[in-house]
Amino acid sequence: MHRRNLIKNFLKFSGSFLLISIASGFTKTKANKQKLPLFNNKSNKTMIQLPSLPYEKNALMPYISENTINYHYGKHHQTYVNNLNNLIKDTELSSKNLEEIVKISANDSSKVAIFNNAAQIWNHTFYWNSMKPNGGGVPNASLLAKIESDFGSYENFVNEFKNSAISQFGSGWSWVVLDEKDKLKILKTGNAETPLTNPKLKPLLTIDVWEHAYYLDFQNARANYVDIFLNHLINWDFINQNLIK
Ligand code: FE
Repeated sequence: MHRRNLIKNFLKFSGSFLLISIASGFTKTKANKQKLPLFNNKSNKTMIQLPSLPYEKNALMPYISENTINYHYGKHHQTYVNNLNNLIKDTELSSKNLEEIVKISANDSSKVAIFNNAAQIWNHTFYWNSMKPNGGGVPNASLLAKIESDFGSYENFVNEFKNSAISQFGSGWSWVVLDEKDKLKILKTGNAETPLTNPKLKPLLTIDVWEHAYYLDFQNARANYVDIFLNHLINWDFINQNLIK
């Protein structure tokens, strides 16, 4: 009888332990699914996190495939995050947020790899937010008026944006920025270079023109990818949000 009671109590105890483990595991899973803020993406002092995509991986279809997102976001963007965490581990940069790391490492010849990976994380997050499902076309009236005032016409803006994105030789980015005179400008940058490091410019929108951004869907036809971006993907809301920041 005594032995039976011992077994009974043991089963009760291990049952409660199991319930507690399941409950704490569930809480952890829920916490991991919380959406991270756009750029101040540090959940602790030592690790940079890959920010959540602002939409599902298949949400930009049929223009940008889930396959491209799986590689571009899941492999390329994630690799920049992994590389940066390895590079800043146990250094003074591990306590900084991503924007600080980009700015500190820019133009520092001893921190080229840190800059390249940090800036690529920032640029890619900015790029994902520069697109949205059912985006593209002409912006709302106030932004359209601003574009017409700064570029002469919407067509001029489109042509300048396309020329910039198509003529960037090799890997890089094309950007819409606000300059120090509050004028909209288009510029291109090579490799990981980013207008974030220029205090006179405010980045508003970007298109990734590295081949990995479009090759699976458009092969070498970068011009078609840029057309699709303007006609079906560009997220004017993101420009508007950045303008009022
Ligand atoms: Fe990319």
